[in-house]
Amino acid sequence: MIIILKDNAQRQQIEKLKNFIAAQGLKAVPIVGEKTTVLGLVGDTSVMDIETVKLFKAVENAIKVQERFKRPNRKFHPEDSVIDAGGVKIGGKNIVVIAGPCSVESRTQIFKVAESVQRSGAVILRGGAYKPRTSPYMFQGLKAEGLEYMQKPRTELNMPIISEITNPANIQLFIDNVDIIQVGARNMQNFELLKLLGETTKPILLKRGFSNTIEELLMSAEYIMNGGNQNVILCERGIRTFEHFTRNTLDISAVAVLKRLSHLPVIVDPSHSGGINWLVESLSLAAIAAGADGVMIEVHNDPSCALCDGAQSINCEEFEKLMQKINKVSAAIGRG
Ligand code: PEP
Ligand code: MN
Repeated sequence: MIIILKDNAQRQQIEKLKNFIAAQGLKAVPIVGEKTTVLGLVGDTSVMDIETVKLFKAVENAIKVQERFKRPNRKFHPEDSVIDAGGVKIGGKNIVVIAGPCSVESRTQIFKVAESVQRSGAVILRGGAYKPRTSPYMFQGLKAEGLEYMQKPRTELNMPIISEITNPANIQLFIDNVDIIQVGARNMQNFELLKLLGETTKPILLKRGFSNTIEELLMSAEYIMNGGNQNVILCERGIRTFEHFTRNTLDISAVAVLKRLSHLPVIVDPSHSGGINWLVESLSLAAIAAGADGVMIEVHNDPSCALCDGAQSINCEEFEKLMQKINKVSAAIGRG
C-alpha cells in the first residue's frame, strides 16, 4: 500500500498515522519529494483497511498495490493448477466439456442425456438436483432423489458428475454423491458455505455472481482455499448489464483476466450467459478461443419440455455438432 500525505499535513497528524501503521505490524518507508511525501508500507498489508487509512487527517490518498487475494494468485503459484475431478483433469492442456440438463428430471432422462453427450465427447455430466429458482412456485429440483438418479451414469458410464449445492446442511450428501460441487452464482458470496466447503477436499466449481466483480470472485475462491481446499475451478457465467437481448452478458475478457491473475482453471457457462439456445455455439467457441479451460453446456433431450431453462438448452444433436466445432477450435489453438 502506498499512502500519499497531504502537503500541509501537520507533524502530530503524521505521527498518529505512523503509530497506527506500526500497531498493525507494518513499516512505513517515506519517499520525500519536493512538495509531496509518500509512505510505502512494507509487510502484509492485507490486515489494513484502505478506507480506514483514508480517514486519517494526514492522508491525501491511499492506493493498494498488493492484490487482496493470495491463494488463487498466480504471483504465488505461477504454474496452472490442474484439478482432478473423478479422474478427469481440469486445467491442463485439454479442453474439458461438461454437459447435461439444467435439472435432473427422471432416472431415464439423465441417463439418456449422459449417454448421448458422452458419445459426442463430453467428459463430465452436469445435472441440477437442488435448483435455486427466482420464483418459489417453479420446479425446485428432485433434490436427493436427483443426485441418486445421477449415480447410474456416474458408475456405469464412468462419468464424473457435477451438481449445485444450495444449503450447507447438504455438504456430506454432496461429498458422498458428486465429483464436483457447484456453487451457483447466487451463492458466490455465501461465505459460511464457502468456509465449510474449504474444509473438504472435493473440487468446487465456483460460479461468478451476476453482479460480482472479478476480484470478488477471486476473494470468494480465497475463502474456500483459505480453509485448506485448493481444488477450486472458476466459472464465468455472464453478468448483468444494461443489455436485455441476452439473459446476461458473457464477460469474455474475464476469461483472459482470470487466467492472467490466477492459476486456477477457468470454465465458461455459455448457456446461462446468453440464455438463448442458438447463442450457445458462438459463446462456447469464443470462450475456448479466449483461453478458457472448458465449457459447461446445458443439453436437454427435449428442450421444449424442460422443467428448467429450456430456452437456453440445446438438444443432443445440436450438442454433437457443437462438439465437432469445439474440437476444431481447440486444435487450432493447440489444445486437444
Ligand atoms: C446452473 O448452473 O444450473 C445455475 C443455476 O447456474 P447459475 O448459478 O450460474 O445461475
Ligand atoms: Mn440452468
